[in-house]
Amino acid sequence: MIISVASGKGGTGKTTVAVNLALFLARNREKNIQFLDCDVEEPNAYIFLKPDIQESQKVSILVPEVDERKCNFCGKCAEVCAYNAIAVLKNKVMIFPELCHGCGGCTLFCPEDAISEKERGIGVLHQGKAESISFIQGKLNIGEPMATPIIREVKKKVNPDGITIIDVPPGTSCPVIEAVNRSDFCLLVTEPTPFGLNDLKLAVEVLKKLKIKFGVIINRAGIGDDKVKEFCEDESIQILAEIPYDRNVAVLYSQGISILIEADYAKIFEKIWDSIKRKIDS
Ligand code: SF4
Ligand code: SF4
Repeated sequence: MIISVASGKGGTGKTTVAVNLALFLARNREKNIQFLDCDVEEPNAYIFLKPDIQESQKVSILVPEVDERKCNFCGKCAEVCAYNAIAVLKNKVMIFPELCHGCGGCTLFCPEDAISEKERGIGVLHQGKAESISFIQGKLNIGEPMATPIIREVKKKVNPDGITIIDVPPGTSCPVIEAVNRSDFCLLVTEPTPFGLNDLKLAVEVLKKLKIKFGVIINRAGIGDDKVKEFCEDESIQILAEIPYDRNVAVLYSQGISILIEADYAKIFEKIWDSIKRKIDS
């Protein structure tokens, strides 16, 4: 079972929810819990889970390299590339590796067999254990724009026999779609503010298109207004839980401590888990 935790906007408490759900499950008899940190530009779940990292591997993509002695400058490779990562001039082929998605299309279509491929490192994948949780984190190299291939690598580690919690990058772009894809359920974490509502609407559209079941968690409930609730009611979207705006949560967060040590919050996560199971079975 794959449960992804997403938010249209950053800073809503998505990682707090993902981490505490994983810890709640691991500490309450569920076996084979995995945590995949796919927020690869800024993975920070490790601060709360404190995993013992046992293995690290470099993640690379294959980018083209042109042998200009074989090239006839026909321009086919540039035509094929959907990402504008190749430009063919009169007697020169220019490659922009940071735009290349490593799809291999140019190599396949080159009529002169002038293109070979070389590895370009884009990040690193760390694996370890946090309590009984299998922890996997992708981390993009600084300045590297290509998040999707590393998220794909992280997701190859999904254990189909267990429960996988995925911390999804914020937003609604390609890396988010790669991270939530094939989820059985998605928790959308938002806050009751105009920005929260705007980005929630975008995230809801994405999940509807992907046909992924979802529910909303309102974090910092008590600030802002009721517009998020009204939107959910109009759209028949279930609000699975509200996490109150509470100074204690901020203090625990700043110290990298799980909010489950507070009995009230443990009950909230119990309720969230029960709702997810019911929604998946419905
Ligand atoms: S497709 Fe091949 S031969 Fe044509 S310009 Fe590109 S590298 Fe050169
Ligand atoms: S591998 Fe794909 S993305 Fe990269 S340059 Fe070739 S066609 Fe473009």
